[in-house]
Amino acid sequence: TLGGKAGRGMKPEVNLGPYEMVIGLETHVQLRTKTKLFCSCATSFGAEPNTQVCPVCMGLPGALPVVNAHAVRLAALAGLALEARIHPVSRFDRKHYFYPDLPKGYQISQFFHPLCQGGRLVIQTGAGPKVVGITRIHMEEDAGKLLHGGEAGSLLDLNRCGVPLIEIVTDPDIAGPQEACAYLRKLRAVLTCAGVSDCRMNEGSLRCDVNLSLRKPGALLGVRTEIKNLNSFQSVERAIWAEAARQAEALRRGEPILRETRRFDPVTGRTYAMRMKESTQEYCFFPEPDLPPVLLRPETVKDLRASLPILPDARTERFMTVFGLSPYVAEQLTQRRWLADYFEETACLAHNPVSVANILLGEVFALLKARQGEETDGIPVAPRRLAALSDLVSGGQVNSSAGKRILAALFEEDFEPWEYARSFDLLLLREERALREAVSRALEENPAMVAAYRGGKSSVEQALMGKAMALTGGKAEPEMLKKLLREALQEQTT
Ligand code: ADP
Ligand code: MG
Ligand code: ZN
Repeated sequence: TLGGKAGRGMKPEVNLGPYEMVIGLETHVQLRTKTKLFCSCATSFGAEPNTQVCPVCMGLPGALPVVNAHAVRLAALAGLALEARIHPVSRFDRKHYFYPDLPKGYQISQFFHPLCQGGRLVIQTGAGPKVVGITRIHMEEDAGKLLHGGEAGSLLDLNRCGVPLIEIVTDPDIAGPQEACAYLRKLRAVLTCAGVSDCRMNEGSLRCDVNLSLRKPGALLGVRTEIKNLNSFQSVERAIWAEAARQAEALRRGEPILRETRRFDPVTGRTYAMRMKESTQEYCFFPEPDLPPVLLRPETVKDLRASLPILPDARTERFMTVFGLSPYVAEQLTQRRWLADYFEETACLAHNPVSVANILLGEVFALLKARQGEETDGIPVAPRRLAALSDLVSGGQVNSSAGKRILAALFEEDFEPWEYARSFDLLLLREERALREAVSRALEENPAMVAAYRGGKSSVEQALMGKAMALTGGKAEPEMLKKLLREALQEQTT
């Protein structure tokens, strides 16, 4: 490794007393389509407000929706990747509520007959693998975006109206923030791998609602609250701790937990009540009369199943057996499909796949994070270049700080790492004669240390190593130098 640092562990002190957490997640994922769910407007992120709209997605009277067949295929693919049942017939329904970002006054969703039911996702926990049940997966359209706080008051951007989403609902199987984040990471790994979504939390293409209750172990489920729209792993983790602490405190005081919808404020680190939970009746669901049922023929489902690439769990196994990676490292590398592809290509070109993995997860990721933030989506270095660099480091031709320097330069421009190391004089000295010479000069120039060594003070070896290294201008390959020094010292004592 070039010396990367591991992820931070932020765990506020929360004492839940006799209670344990019960969590179910509802995750919204944007499907990777060019056009919206019921019209042909573009879905690209970051466009000028209200430039990707038409009568259908603006909800003008008389406009008729038409289902995007590709969105249906992607949703079914998500179901297959999560081992769910895909229903041959599903339907769209209207979910009514009033909010300014919803021009029709209802959202088209799937309530009575969702596309998929009954899947599973396996996550890794401290106590080993754990199955999180998937209750259902249904398709729905996104709402627009309200932009608050401008001079003109609140403004409305309808570009996101009608963007295709799936909602993935879990069983209440998740026992805490680590498991919630492990679930979301695995979900992202599976869905990006299957090509269903790019799952960018910072662009809102993956966001999640946390349902949380407390109970004494073994007791029936308690009353839950729902925290809406969390869009980073960190806010999921913090929101869960904050809400669990709030509920524990209320229960201690004998206050009831209300079935509310709450929001998390990252500034104060607390959750706040937004509204009481709407009941199903209030949404007044009814079948969408403008859309026919969604039919998926068995052959289509079969073709979709066959088109699924190797999924992260299977790929993790393969990386362990083929490249000798540890389970942890293999799992890290299969979290994103582009990363797994990149690793595989590079590892095949390099002598030491473990070194490639370590460089990728250490220094490459440190550089990517510094440039792109948390949401990284590609490495600007050709695999053969990284393979060459890995060989230089694992073969002891350059030291780790030179490795870092070469890598940083490779992020800026393309070159052959060995050439670069040579022209910047970064190659380590591995010539035995030169190293022996440095060792004997170090011994000659420091007779007192040698005498101390002879007198049994073996700790001076480290100091002599420093002297010999300095005589090579810091260029000696350390393992070789150490070996030669030890040999020379042993000769001195015999
Ligand atoms: P709603 O339609 O009101 O959102 P759902 O039945 O769809 O309710 O459940 C939403 C989520 O809440 C699911 O992920 C489910 O696992 C979770 N959930 C249900 N009961 C509890 C509970 N007592 N504590 C925590 N989570 C729960
Ligand atoms: Mg819900
Ligand atoms: Zn439109």
